[in-house]
Amino acid sequence: MLDLTYETPKPKVIAGAKQDWELVIGLEVHAQVSSNAKLFSGASTKFGAEPNSNVAFVDAGMPGMLPVINEECVAQAVRTGLGLKAEINLYSAFDRKNYFYPDLPQGYQISQLYHPIVGVGEVLVEMGSGVARTVRIERIHLEQDAGKSIHDMDPTMSFVDLNRTGVALMEIVSMPDIRGPEEAAAYVSKLRQIMRYLGTCDGNMQNGSMRADVNVSICAPGQYEKYQESGDFSHLGTRCEIKNMNSLRFIQQAIEVEAKRQIAIVEGGGTVSQETRLYDPDKGETRSMRSKEEAHDYRYFPDPDLLPLEIEQAWVDDLKAHLPELPDEKRLRFMEEFGLSDYDSGVLTADTADAAYFEEVAKGRDGKMAANWVINELFGRLKKDDDKAIGDSPVSPAQLGGIIDLIASDAISGKIAKDLFEIVYSEGGDPAEIVEARGMKQVTDLGPIEAALDEIIAANPAQVEMAKENPKLAGWFVGQVMKATGGKANPKAVNELVAKKLAG
Ligand code: ADP
Ligand code: MG
Repeated sequence: MLDLTYETPKPKVIAGAKQDWELVIGLEVHAQVSSNAKLFSGASTKFGAEPNSNVAFVDAGMPGMLPVINEECVAQAVRTGLGLKAEINLYSAFDRKNYFYPDLPQGYQISQLYHPIVGVGEVLVEMGSGVARTVRIERIHLEQDAGKSIHDMDPTMSFVDLNRTGVALMEIVSMPDIRGPEEAAAYVSKLRQIMRYLGTCDGNMQNGSMRADVNVSICAPGQYEKYQESGDFSHLGTRCEIKNMNSLRFIQQAIEVEAKRQIAIVEGGGTVSQETRLYDPDKGETRSMRSKEEAHDYRYFPDPDLLPLEIEQAWVDDLKAHLPELPDEKRLRFMEEFGLSDYDSGVLTADTADAAYFEEVAKGRDGKMAANWVINELFGRLKKDDDKAIGDSPVSPAQLGGIIDLIASDAISGKIAKDLFEIVYSEGGDPAEIVEARGMKQVTDLGPIEAALDEIIAANPAQVEMAKENPKLAGWFVGQVMKATGGKANPKAVNELVAKKLAG
């Protein structure tokens, strides 16, 4: 856990209502497990394959086929639980959730209702500027994903693609600890970041690897605190669940829209009824999908084809011992090891590729300077260059390190270094050789600097008089010398020399 002093964010209050209302939000995030094979079959999970090419008999619900648990999927769920500082349940069990869908030919989904593999955990969610909240995780369970029905390829027929049928999902259920739309988005990004670090889910929301069901309710100020003290949900308002959100932006919009809808109902004298809703981003509204009364009776029961899942503590310990460094830990280490600010460290640890690049540049060099160059120059340049990822950077860590070394040894000034960076970025090459070949070396030899300064002083007697009275004007002389030497004069040497001459 990051040992930083955080301020707890205030709950979001919705404006324009007759009275103040606070938001209460709980998320159920479905994260596709990164694994080569499905949860109960050996079929491939590769995205974008020819429709219905990754389907084993058991995925197709053929009679007599038996599911076989994929150990790697279990390991991935355990790693995710460990990454969320959660309890790992050595005993868990699979249940059948019965319903019919054309893209789930078994006629039921195998899930873990009564005994999930992961219990209570927590995530530190930051909103920037030292504001953060801990969101508690209620549970994570393993379940099968469904396939895909396609209704828009033919005017008279629907198609079904079973490639995703039976792929392992982790359902990560949060407690209702989230108090605003930005927090909800920050929570989902933090989960995504942790799972990407762990390698347990690729977090690609566009491809549907991560989807969220968003539960929203409203309450009067003070009610949430009562719930927290007692754990009694009746202090909170009735929630509605917005299904299947696959973008951070839509999650935030949907929460905002849904809260306003609930406030209008309550302030109009009505009551919110618990239901499942869908968000329509084009219309900017949520609409009812099904109400609690017509909710499915899934007739859950323990799956008779699968034994309870019993894992050993030693196995969990071994997975724990091999976990990679997590985002919060890496961020704290970067702050300590390289003297970075909380903010810079957060930027550099946003993903593992960025962090690895920075570490290579910073190794044996000034950490703050390395951070500065990576964040301001490199990231800025990559962004301008079609938002390139760090993996596609034309400047390698060794090249960037080389540029920094040239500054540190006073061979080039910071200003020339920026020109050099641009040359290395667009043309490649060894920074030291470029400096040599193109005569970019800083002039530290005082002779030519002094000559240039003497000339400027001689030509500008009025400026000299003024600068003698007001030392702040010395900067003008420094600028003139830099100009006269094509920016190659060592700024420190120039400053000293100007001060000396003007004083004399
Ligand atoms: P269900 O099984 O009906 O989906 P759960 O108890 O599993 O219900 O809760 C689902 C999600 O709803 C959880 O993420 C939880 O935090 C959230 N939730 C529960 N009560 C509320 C509430 N009053 N307001 C907002 N979210 C809530
Ligand atoms: Mg639920």
